[in-house]
Formats: sequence, structure tokens, C-alpha cells
Amino acid sequence: MYYVYIVECKDGTLYTGCTPDIEKRLKEHNTGKGCKYTRMRYPVILRYLEEAENRSKAQQREYAIKQLSRKEKMEILNTKEAHKHSINHKDSLVKDSLCGCFYCMRIFSPTMINEWLEDISGTAVCPYCGIDSIIGASSGYPITREFLLKMNKHWF
Ligand SMILES: [Zn+2]
Repeated sequence: MYYVYIVECKDGTLYTGCTPDIEKRLKEHNTGKGCKYTRMRYPVILRYLEEAENRSKAQQREYAIKQLSRKEKMEILNTKEAHKHSINHKDSLVKDSLCGCFYCMRIFSPTMINEWLEDISGTAVCPYCGIDSIIGASSGYPITREFLLKMNKHWF
């Protein structure tokens, strides 16, 4: 198993890399042994982690991410962060007036949800498409078609 990762450096810039051992690699970055770029800019914070089957797939993905603009990279971090709000969210979601599904793109009231996955605190299942990809307004993200499309593009 390989990992593609994005770290945020001390100066706020983003560095993308890949490694078979993320713990070890972060330690290297944070002791100034990682690479030339982070040597001048550590400590770094892990902001994004993605699994890849093997080294060559990881390198392809690393290359693709490195071609993105900072704005596009921030969008990857953002959609990753937003995804956390689509699981174990029953407590906050039931109080929301609006939620959206980033699989089928429908926007509706959480009162429509009648199926929950029994994980830590409950994950909503979309009443329209049956996929557990619902995010509520209390996540702080805009429940708009545009945002749902961004999430869909990233996760499906
Ligand atoms: Zn749906």
C-alpha cells in the first residue's frame, strides 16, 4: 500500500508527496530530512491522505495533484474535510432544516430521512438513492447544487 499526501508547511504552502510509510515520512519532514522543499519550511501538518494500490499509481496521482493550482488543491482539502460531516452526524443532522445528497444531488429536509446506518452516532441514508452521502447545513458548508456537484466529482 502506498499513500499520496498533502502537507501544509510552516509558511502555509502545500507540499504533495507519496510514500509507503506515512508515519515515517512525516517524521522525516518534521526533522528536516524530508526533502529540499520542506527542509526550509517545517514543521508540516498532514492535511490530506489518499491510498494508492502501488508505487506507480501513487506517483501518477502525486504528479496529477502537483499540476493543480493552489486553489484546486485547497478544494481537495475542503471536500475531504466536508466528507467527515457526512458520517456519524445524526445528532446535528436531525436539527438541520436542510440537507443535500452528493450522490443524487437532491436537496431536502432531514425529516425525509428514515434510514440510518448504525455506526458511532448514526449516518443518514438518502431516501431517494439509498446512498450514505448526505451532508447537512450545520456542517458549515453551503447546501447548494454547486457544492454537491463538487463533492460528487471528488467522491464518486
Ligand atoms: Zn441521494
